[in-house]
Amino acid sequence: MRVPRRRAALFVAFLALVLIAGSLAITSCQALGASSRGKLAVYLIDVGQGDGMLIQTPGGKNIVVDAGVEATTVTKFLQSKKVKQVDYFIVTHPHADHVGGATYLLEHFPVKNVYDSGKEHTTSLYESFLAKTLELVKEGKTTYTKPRAGQQLKVEDNLVLNFLFPTDEPAPPPDDINNSSIVFKLVYKDFSMLFTGDAEAWAEQQMLDHHADLKAQVLKVGHHGSYSSSTEPFLDAVKPEVAVLQAGVGNKYGHPHGVTLEKLAKRNVKVYATNMVGGAIKIISDGKTYQVLTGKDATK
Ligand SMILES: [Zn+2]
Repeated sequence: MRVPRRRAALFVAFLALVLIAGSLAITSCQALGASSRGKLAVYLIDVGQGDGMLIQTPGGKNIVVDAGVEATTVTKFLQSKKVKQVDYFIVTHPHADHVGGATYLLEHFPVKNVYDSGKEHTTSLYESFLAKTLELVKEGKTTYTKPRAGQQLKVEDNLVLNFLFPTDEPAPPPDDINNSSIVFKLVYKDFSMLFTGDAEAWAEQQMLDHHADLKAQVLKVGHHGSYSSSTEPFLDAVKPEVAVLQAGVGNKYGHPHGVTLEKLAKRNVKVYATNMVGGAIKIISDGKTYQVLTGKDATK
């Protein structure tokens, strides 16, 4: 029987939609659905060339990791998510592409706890963030912590952040801002994700030397996928299944670098970069399995 042409066209369109949807939602083993209620959600916000992430815990806590390069982008995203307060604000290191929206965020949200590398940096962006933080500390509205390797933050039952870097001894080289980045591993039941800031080869070697527990299913790739990070021994210790990173479309650094992508591909690691998937990335987990979403589902 001859299939009417219109029906055949509809079928082809339907098939295309199924294929697109399938390619957008890669799951480790089972679909969790786009809704993250009662689950862990990690949003890599579409901040361009910089880092800015929101972690929403199953218990409803909000953790912001870095604040993008533009003043308002991360704050606007939090507002769109109807966030009422930020429980923990972790600024991995004081470079402009991580601290750009930090002061604006402190001005627009109650922030209960600020975590900062403590690395000195004499830019007005960082100094205004630090001044605003210390003003809020004085008013009793926030706390200020410089986490060090070995410390653990218990966010809620079954969810902890294990800080793996920096160490006091040896301290990062004086002018090396990237290698002063706060690195931590989020552990929620059987799920884990490693956040690396812009840590480079030197910091990676320090963590390996200190036998840090690096193994994680999801790796936020160091320094936007630059060749200066993601050494082979470090990747072998993390053993990620999925790698995610934030970089700007057409960025002048060429992030993520081909050599990093090749190292990840060689290890069968699936890579999601904001400039390669066309915007935000979201990871959700129920503590057993996890799912990576892109496109419209990544901001829901
Ligand atoms: Zn950066």
